[in-house]
Amino acid sequence: MIPHLDLKQLNRPYQAEIAEAMQRVAESGWYVLGKEVVSFEKRWADYCGISHCIGVANGLNALELIFKAYDFPEGSEVIVPANTYIASILSVTSLGLKPVWVEPDIDTYNIDPHKIERMITSKTKAVLAVHLYGKCCTMKPIWELAQKYDLKIIEDAAQAHGATYAGLKAGNLCDAAAFSFYPTKNLGALGDAGAVTTNDAELARKISSLRNYGSTIKYYNDHIGTNSRLDELQAAILNVKLNHLDAENQRRRELAGYFLSEIKHPDVVLPTAKTLYEDAWHLFVVRHPKREQFIDYLMDNGIQATVHYPVPPHKQRAYAEYSHLSLPITERIHNEVVSLPLNPSLTNEDAAYIVQTINQFAFQSHAAVGYYSGL
Ligand SMILES: *Cc1c(COP(=O)(O)O)cnc(C)c1O
Repeated sequence: MIPHLDLKQLNRPYQAEIAEAMQRVAESGWYVLGKEVVSFEKRWADYCGISHCIGVANGLNALELIFKAYDFPEGSEVIVPANTYIASILSVTSLGLKPVWVEPDIDTYNIDPHKIERMITSKTKAVLAVHLYGKCCTMKPIWELAQKYDLKIIEDAAQAHGATYAGLKAGNLCDAAAFSFYPTKNLGALGDAGAVTTNDAELARKISSLRNYGSTIKYYNDHIGTNSRLDELQAAILNVKLNHLDAENQRRRELAGYFLSEIKHPDVVLPTAKTLYEDAWHLFVVRHPKREQFIDYLMDNGIQATVHYPVPPHKQRAYAEYSHLSLPITERIHNEVVSLPLNPSLTNEDAAYIVQTINQFAFQSHAAVGYYSGL
């Protein structure tokens, strides 16, 4: 079977380097906020082209710490994309802020920048730009709105390591950005890890204090903080894996380009090719009107496709208070999306087999429902 993603296979090429890094930490005797964290923070900031990076425990905490540091008055509104993973929304509501949902652009799956302005009120403090599936949001109109209404823009770059927009890296497109290094992400640790990036020195100082009990000098606490430090062992592993991120993203782009040019199926809607070289291709997401049938067909042929995500946040039981909202584009996307296997360990043979299998489905499904009855 071609798995959607096999983490063991993904990390196999780096096993020796990872083992060495772990050994180095084990022998150092310094296990929390040590050299590896400092080094990774510096290297990740440099990679993103930004001045500050603060390592934290995970991606959700990275988002939450940004909102916590901004300290918006309770009840402030944050413009969020309705089409996202629930973590984006949790970061807003867990800080007592109100999510204001905006529909996506059906071609990019990211927030539709032209639907933001009508949702801005006197209580709006920020826009959360989620770069879903590895594609950066269309930032220019969002930058203009932020300037016009004096809003902060916060990036959820958890799926966009190495993606670019207008020549700038994700993580360097807004006031502050959150990254996750969850094992399945383009840059993945062997456990939970995350980071905040920003050019704002004041914000960086505050977040680096907040993640460590609100303390900068041991046993002196300036803020009501929390414990959300990036683990030293995970930082050491990230220092290894960062060396390979560009090559891995390059391979993802190569595979995405191949899928985009070779998959030809009247019912399969491919992702936009416009941003082929800017995307980080965290996921290769297509749409099919009969999703379950399509997934079953692929599975019967040894290809594991998955769904990101089956239920939009506003339709989750946890957010019952928002279930009345009418967000038809978001709901349609959640009903039709299918993520094909696309990751650095996919071989050319796997990719060719996926293409061939999908293209054959075109014939089968159409013959079955008689679309070609005129022939
Ligand atoms: C993975 C992810 C997060 C959360 O990251 P964790 O490290 O799992 O907390 C947030 N937003 C998006 C879009 C994600 O994909």
